[in-house]
Amino acid sequence: MHDAMLEISGLNAHYRDFQALYGVGMHVKAGEVLAIIGANGAGKTTLMRSISGLMANGAGQIRYKNQDISALRADQVAALGIALVPEGRQLFRSLSVEENLVIGGQIGRKGPWHLEAVFNLFPILRERRAVPATSLSGGQQQMVAIGRALMANPDMILFDEISLGLAPIIIKDIYAALPGIIGEGMSAMIVEQDISKALAVSSRVYCLQEGRVSLEGASGAVSRSDISRAYFGIE
Ligand code: ATP
Repeated sequence: MHDAMLEISGLNAHYRDFQALYGVGMHVKAGEVLAIIGANGAGKTTLMRSISGLMANGAGQIRYKNQDISALRADQVAALGIALVPEGRQLFRSLSVEENLVIGGQIGRKGPWHLEAVFNLFPILRERRAVPATSLSGGQQQMVAIGRALMANPDMILFDEISLGLAPIIIKDIYAALPGIIGEGMSAMIVEQDISKALAVSSRVYCLQEGRVSLEGASGAVSRSDISRAYFGIE
C-alpha cells in the first residue's frame, strides 16, 4: 500500500464488444504529476474517461481518497474533486468564453480558482470574455477548457492530449502556465504525444500499449529504449 490519492487496479474498459483497457493498474499520490504516454489507440483517452465517470462501469476498481468511485457518474466524480480537460476541448459552442468558464464553477467546490484567477492565468481570455468560445483560436479554446476545469477547484486534474494540434507558441504558453496550475498540491495526469514534454513536466510516467500498462517509471530515469519498447513492443 502507498499513500495514493488515486489508486486504479484491474481496470478493464469496453466499447460494446471491443476491449480497450486490460487490467490497468496505476496510482497517483497527492501533489504528483503523472505523464501518460502511448501510441494512438493505446487507451489513454479511455483511461481518462474511465476515471472521470464517462465509461460504462467495467471490471476493476478506481479508488479516490479512499472511496471507490468506479460506479459513480461524471458529475459525482467532479463533485469529489476530479476535473477533466477533454481531448478536443468540447466547449459549449453557443456560449461565450465567460459563460463556459462559469459553468465549470457550478459544481460549487471552494478553492483558489475563480473567474479572475483564470483571467490572470490566461489574460487573453479576459480580453475575449464576451465572444463565443468557438470563435477563438484552437490554443485559446484549450485555455478555456483548462480554465473551465480549474473553475471546479479540483484536487486532481486530468489533461487529455494537452497540446494536440496547437501551434508551438501556444503549447509553450500552456506549459508555462502548468506550474501555476499544479502548484499548491494539486495532482495531475497529463496525456501528451510529445514524449520529451511529458517527461519534463512529470515525476512519473506510465506508458500504455494496446490497453495495458507497458511501462511505469520515474520520468527522469526511463531511457529512450525503454520507451520505444513500451510504445511498440519491440526489442
Ligand atoms: P489517441 O491518441 O488516438 O486518442 P488513445 O490512446 O487515447 O488514442 P483511445 O481513444 O482510448 O486511445 O482508444 C483506445 C481503443 O478504443 C482504440 O482502439 C479505439 O479505436 C477504441 N475506441 C475508442 N473510442 C471508441 C468508441 N467510441 N467506439 C469503439 N471503439 C473505440
